[in-house]
Amino acid sequence: MTNAKLNIVVVGAGLGGLAAGIAFAMRGHSVTLLEAAPKLGEIGAGIQIPPNSTAVLKLLGVYEKLKDVVVWPSGIDMVRYDTGEILGPAELNPYVEIVYGSPYWVVHRADYHKILHARAQEVGVKILVDSRVISVDETVPSVTTCDGVYGAKATTYTADLVVAADGIQSGIRRILFPDLKGEVLESESSAYRATLTAEQMSSDPTLKRLLETPRATSWIGPGGHIMAYPIRNGQLYNLVMLHPAGDEISGEWNIPATTEDMLETYAGWDPKILKAISMIPSAMKWKVCYLKELDTWQSNSGKVVLLGDSAHATVPFLAQGAAMAMEDAITLAECIDVVKDPSQISDMLKVYEEVRKPRTTRIVLGSRDMGYVNHLEDGPAQQKRDEALRHATTKSSVAPTRYVPPSSTEIPPYDRQQPNPWSDTVFEPWMFGYDVVKVVRTRLGIDV
Ligand SMILES: Cc1cc2nc3c(=O)[nH]c(=O)nc-3n(C[C@H](O)[C@H](O)[C@H](O)COP(=O)(O)OP(=O)(O)OC[C@H]3O[C@@H](n4cnc5c(N)ncnc54)[C@H](O)[C@@H]3O)c2cc1C
Repeated sequence: MTNAKLNIVVVGAGLGGLAAGIAFAMRGHSVTLLEAAPKLGEIGAGIQIPPNSTAVLKLLGVYEKLKDVVVWPSGIDMVRYDTGEILGPAELNPYVEIVYGSPYWVVHRADYHKILHARAQEVGVKILVDSRVISVDETVPSVTTCDGVYGAKATTYTADLVVAADGIQSGIRRILFPDLKGEVLESESSAYRATLTAEQMSSDPTLKRLLETPRATSWIGPGGHIMAYPIRNGQLYNLVMLHPAGDEISGEWNIPATTEDMLETYAGWDPKILKAISMIPSAMKWKVCYLKELDTWQSNSGKVVLLGDSAHATVPFLAQGAAMAMEDAITLAECIDVVKDPSQISDMLKVYEEVRKPRTTRIVLGSRDMGYVNHLEDGPAQQKRDEALRHATTKSSVAPTRYVPPSSTEIPPYDRQQPNPWSDTVFEPWMFGYDVVKVVRTRLGIDV
């Protein structure tokens, strides 16, 4: 019996929804992707694509298209917030590609989204904008949208499977699990996000050097950190600035922040970064939130399932949120690919959840830890962290060897004392070296 070719509706054309749409369509399924926004796109900021995610991009057929529009950072320098002293460099390219088989990239989100969008169209995903899903019937399953700017028209789409990739504030999650309350948790941090142009950065010799060095810098200090790196071949310099949360409202995106607000927040920090901040005309800010672990990601009927941030949004300190959505997409597509009849979908959703939930939960925990470690107040714990960072063996001094990813779903032990979870000798390989196909096919009993 051949595998069933299914009719799949994906809700939400963010990075996760597009990846899922591509993965399903590449396996011959018929995919309709419904997006609420009138126009597809992403915000004007950078995003890091770690090696476990660049590995997925190869599987989605977009690696070659992206590789020329991304920056390949040689590493991330963790620096002291006030002096800019390098505390611990984390090596990235070419180290991670040698060890994990795929590189580490940073990219403008709009470029990333555009290439995934083009690929989705190329493989036949039917993408409908202006289509906000307002109700779900999990038994059919079907979704109903309210279409157009004024929402005058309603359309119902039936499917064999509905995938909700509608983000952290997922409306579908709320419809499926009406008893779930308070699942969106507020972290202690808010973020400002901004980009500076090459012209602005070149007006100062120190900033020009930062722009022209393909390397990320993370200023870590009391209550916050600033992650910065060049994007678009050095045309822009991207800044994500974490600081103690104020009165921002959870779920409200893109609240404007003034230069004065930002300078006040980072008073006393490295003059280099203050100079950069002083050139930002305005920025966006929002409260950083994450999801508590859900009991399940699928409806009672086993016909509607969550993916990406709607299932497991994380604080962004490990730069793994979108990477997890990418891994979800391949895992779910592989599970669905063995279905011979739609009645088997429910069992396969259980496998998807069983494979993905422990990993995403551990990433959420690790990301929270990274924030805790990065944001220590000056004092004994910070001194211990900085000493450990300074004395950590830099990877470049050790000949890199290819890591063999396990096929198991086992997760690394939890150790909050680790000063740099990113470079932890157990956590890092588990995070970066994940072979998504090997893990899911092993679980499905398919030869890898
Ligand atoms: C400050 C910050 C920095 C980050 N940095 C990184 C990083 O460096 N690396 C990384 O991997 N991750 C990072 N992340 C996380 C990453 O941005 C997210 O995990 C990822 O974008 C989630 O993608 P998604 O497709 O699941 O959801 P979203 O991007 O939220 O997409 C959801 C989509 O669904 C649509 N939608 C919502 N409701 C409906 C509806 N009812 N009907 C139809 N459509 C609907 C929305 O319009 C949207 O297009 C960061 C996050 C933050 C906040």
